[in-house]
Amino acid sequence: MIFRQLFDKTSSTYTYLIANEKKEEALIIDPVLENVERYIQLLKELDLKLVKVIDTHIHADHISGIAELRDQTNCVTIMGDKTPADVVSMQVSDEELIKIKGLELRALFTPGHTSESFSFLMKDRVFTGDTLLIRGTGRTDFQNGSSVDSYNSIFKKLLKLPDNILVYPAHDYKGDTVSTILEEKKFNPRLQVKSVDEYVEIMNNLNLPDPKLMDVAVPNNLKLGINFNKQKVNSGVEPKEFKKFLSEKNRILIDLREQSEINKNGKINNSISVPFPEISDYLNTNKKEMQNKRVLFYCAIGQRSTLAVQVSKSYNYNNCLHLIGGLKKWKLEGF
Ligand code: FE
Repeated sequence: MIFRQLFDKTSSTYTYLIANEKKEEALIIDPVLENVERYIQLLKELDLKLVKVIDTHIHADHISGIAELRDQTNCVTIMGDKTPADVVSMQVSDEELIKIKGLELRALFTPGHTSESFSFLMKDRVFTGDTLLIRGTGRTDFQNGSSVDSYNSIFKKLLKLPDNILVYPAHDYKGDTVSTILEEKKFNPRLQVKSVDEYVEIMNNLNLPDPKLMDVAVPNNLKLGINFNKQKVNSGVEPKEFKKFLSEKNRILIDLREQSEINKNGKINNSISVPFPEISDYLNTNKKEMQNKRVLFYCAIGQRSTLAVQVSKSYNYNNCLHLIGGLKKWKLEGF
């Protein structure tokens, strides 16, 4: 496995770059906007294709690099499904698997630091975001944080993982890089409590100042998605109109979501499944089949399908449309 822990000095954020040894596909967790060029450079140097990027939660201390990475590499942006709808292109549920070639991560819903925080378990390690830090825990005094949720996420979920699982947090302010579940159980001062009340008491008395960038970072990080307007100008059509195109004879309907999302949320009849990371290969190898056909794309909320239209145009497929708002809007409007 290729595994890099990258550090942002300004916000003390750790960003993780992961790929399998065959160097096929890469994934990044918690990228920082200012460092995007550095990630792109590293991906080039290691000969990796970035296909997915994850934010563990809405960050308050830095602007996330997910949107810039999406725009530069066409990667799929991912967060847990408690996140505001338009921030990322794919939302995962508790226990859902996120796959790239040769590797998979299990999403764990671990609210507390914020109400939408997730952790991600991969083989021998867990990326805990700000839920569990090395000898600390993420503050719970803003963004719908809750000390009780934090306690439950840590004690009932993360500390139930095997003792030897490595803990990789989203931040460290002292220079520590990694810990283990056992170490945190034994030595994390905030976890040496006998009850949830004792933990809440500690968290209520931290008296921390707000993060310097909070008023800038949070609003920015809530707007990183491809909104309906941008979806529309990129050959997007509303559900009602999309439905008309479905009855055309000479069309091909492509579902860009992953199998786990199809299992969870169903699909539009007679669509073929081409997960977004495979769309370039698909367009390349099916030129004959697709010639003179209208291509209709859809995904979960219209972000991947927007990118698919752009990719298609770069392959000279100009007869492409996509569903604004994806399957979510489709369902909301009663289809
Ligand atoms: Fe945070």
